[in-house]
Amino acid sequence: MGLAPLWRLREGGSVEAELAPAPAPAPVLTPLVPVSPSFAPRLPVLGDQRNDILPAGGVVTSATHSDGDDAVAGLDWEALEARIRGCAACGLCKRRKQAVPGVGDQQADWLFVGEGPGAEEDERGEPFVGQAGRLLDAMLASIDLKRGEDVYIANAVKCRPPNNRTPEATELAACFPYLERQIALIQPRLIIALGRPAAQALLNEEVRIATARGRLYTHGGIPVVVTYHPAYLLRNLQDKSKAWEDLCFARRTMKSLKPA
Ligand code: URA
Repeated sequence: MGLAPLWRLREGGSVEAELAPAPAPAPVLTPLVPVSPSFAPRLPVLGDQRNDILPAGGVVTSATHSDGDDAVAGLDWEALEARIRGCAACGLCKRRKQAVPGVGDQQADWLFVGEGPGAEEDERGEPFVGQAGRLLDAMLASIDLKRGEDVYIANAVKCRPPNNRTPEATELAACFPYLERQIALIQPRLIIALGRPAAQALLNEEVRIATARGRLYTHGGIPVVVTYHPAYLLRNLQDKSKAWEDLCFARRTMKSLKPA
């Protein structure tokens, strides 16, 4: 699926001009998954300002999740990964070949969060190693990032949903303490939510990528940028230009977060 021309930096040109995909034809906004009326936030939100969606450039503050699993909250990396590999907190454990905790720099500034492992990830134990992963690597390269170098990649659920279906709200909730602990251990400067399930898990609310992108959210005080999932982009090439805008927004945000 000729991905490279859309994302590869050619020699001699300005980075943004070279990387920007060709202007999309008439925009077609299709979320990664249909809006699910069944999305159940993990906890009631009291005094929560985050539902007041701000104009582009505003910051939407997410409530800090308070239902983290205490048993997970104190684990170091080794114990956390062991816990994830042996987890039976939801039905996804029954059909997995292996759980897929995450990969990368454990002190990364950038944390990318996907949806859940697919067949190849289930086989190999590493997130984003299939076709969507190759596009994610190209997306990383387009903003001068590389898997494992100041980048950590995790998923909202650590076990493959059967037939790559979208994880259910209960599965996202059961797995969330692991992501929460990864975030606490990494302390990234910026989190990129790739697709709707990741965004909903992090923001603890219903999200449509088409409306959430371009805004800065926070999770537990860490800025969160939302964009399309690479697998969605493989099916919806016309939205690659929007993902490129989101990556540029993320890069600008990161620059503003780093000390000069
Ligand atoms: N899609 C995801 O969301 N995560 C993976 O690890 C692979 C594909």
